[in-house]
Amino acid sequence: MNAAMRVALSISALALLLASPAMTQDRQPPTSIAAPWDLPFLPPAPQWDGASRALLRDAGDPWATDFERDPAHDFSPNYAATRGWFDRLDAASDLIRIEAFGTSPEGRQMYAVIASKDGGAFDPSKPVLLAQAGIHPGEIDGKDAGMMLLRDIAFYGKSDLLDRVNLILIPILSVDGHERASPYSRPNQRGPRIQGWRNTATNQNLNRDFMKLDQVEMRALRGLMLKYRPDLYLDIHVTDGMDYQYDVTFGFNGENDAWSRSPAIAAWLDDRFKPAMNAALEGQGHIPGELVFGIDDANPKAGFSDGGLGERFSNGWGSAARVPTVLIENHSLKPYEQRVLGTYVLIEESLRRLAKDGAALRSAIQADSALRPAEIPANFQPDPTPASTRTFKGIRYETYDSPASGRREIRWLGQADPEPWQVPFFGSRPTLTLARPEAYWVPAHRADIIERLRLHGIEMETLHDGRTVSVEMLRLQQPTLAGRANEGRVAVNIAGVETERRDWTYAPGSVRVSTDQPLGDVVVLLLEPQSSESFFAWGLFPEVLSRVEYIEGYAIAPLAERMLAADPALRAEFEARLSAEPDFAANGDARLQWFYERTPFYDDRFQLYPIGRETGA
Ligand SMILES: [Zn+2]
Repeated sequence: MNAAMRVALSISALALLLASPAMTQDRQPPTSIAAPWDLPFLPPAPQWDGASRALLRDAGDPWATDFERDPAHDFSPNYAATRGWFDRLDAASDLIRIEAFGTSPEGRQMYAVIASKDGGAFDPSKPVLLAQAGIHPGEIDGKDAGMMLLRDIAFYGKSDLLDRVNLILIPILSVDGHERASPYSRPNQRGPRIQGWRNTATNQNLNRDFMKLDQVEMRALRGLMLKYRPDLYLDIHVTDGMDYQYDVTFGFNGENDAWSRSPAIAAWLDDRFKPAMNAALEGQGHIPGELVFGIDDANPKAGFSDGGLGERFSNGWGSAARVPTVLIENHSLKPYEQRVLGTYVLIEESLRRLAKDGAALRSAIQADSALRPAEIPANFQPDPTPASTRTFKGIRYETYDSPASGRREIRWLGQADPEPWQVPFFGSRPTLTLARPEAYWVPAHRADIIERLRLHGIEMETLHDGRTVSVEMLRLQQPTLAGRANEGRVAVNIAGVETERRDWTYAPGSVRVSTDQPLGDVVVLLLEPQSSESFFAWGLFPEVLSRVEYIEGYAIAPLAERMLAADPALRAEFEARLSAEPDFAANGDARLQWFYERTPFYDDRFQLYPIGRETGA
């Protein structure tokens, strides 16, 4: 079969799928399709019958969720059905209310479900837990777990959880992606049988947008967080990647490193949160594990890394912003029921832990928010040498010759390996250190950048009259554009910066952004162009890479001749270049360009980063 025939065949198979009931919005399971992708092809999962199954309510219970009503516990309701169920809960319980916090690009309301005994306003002395599901809508375990838990808080004897804590649940963050639903969204994942899509309507991955804040969903989320200031933020996902015994893994930045942007918070998470979660999950028949990423798909025992997740991710951002953030990754090959129940246990235990230890966490947040490090490590890369060896609960596997790939492939066998693995663990290390200036000056003409800083909650001083300030300006060295788009942006890399002390006049509307504030580290990471998480690196300043004006040969040649005659040092430099670089010597345009760059006619703002640094010097 030639390639064109194969494409034609796939298209007709696709047309069949599109016409099938499986693709409609009612999320019914596929019934009549016999394509190979409807046959089970995932590795088996170990049998599981954890104690947390007692949390499930009978299908006949008036408050049973759609997940519980499904005999296979493999179903998650769509946006409308989810909202309908929460509206009913809201109407029936004084403890529950719904708060809209944004509108998606496709016009859907984004909402949070708030559980509190405080009525309309939170008692500020109570810690706040924010549990967020569906930033990746195919990974929706937190929604169905949250529905059960809120129901149990409202009606089934768990209202005491709210005595000392408030809970905000975002059941679906990426609401548009959630409605791009089908059985074919998550090929590596065991349930629910209809799943949402990873990216948004604008094809964006929201868990890369915590810093640049391009997307309305993330701007809305940031607004909600600034309003309620959660003490603990759970970002609930499902993994891809290798098989292992653990069904619930979780982690946070600072966990595995000698350093942390938020050391006191990391210590609280390490000492108080993690052991409590592990004990609760184990007590309910789950197998909690550390958040790790395999480094070699072909060799599961080659080692694990911490992923080096930077500030574009929830947990990286949380560490820099001093918002205690835990990334939960349930294991994709475990059945949906097991994952949802594990998530329920983890959210419930998080509430109990906050009730018990919330004051200590508040102190840790305060301590970390007061940090003003003079040097800020950035641009993390995997460490080439392992930091330690870890004991790991592996799943047995074998390899076989695949006629499809023409090489050895892994076949996971779905059985716990009775022998614990000893596996090297690789951390991450910074490849750049950024010095913290006193402030940055953002010119009024980049109102969009100023707006993004505001959305972050960063404080700034706005100029009402123009002002001339002595600042350090950065000349960008050897900028290169990435060869492909990433998240709708074309990233820009630079080899370095050269600093120039300048008196710069800022127009009214320009802002001074002090780094002496709790979000000061975020400011530096956003505004230093060498930071891989900066607005510049994401490609938000392409205009400074274009040079404007030029000089005709008939003008620059005689001017250059006069420069040579007038300046012996310049002549010596020029002649050295001629003898060192024959290509340059043979290129008349390049020679004239060399002189042009040394005249005051040359574009002074070419590759000049428009945000100034205010330093003590
Ligand atoms: Zn995810």
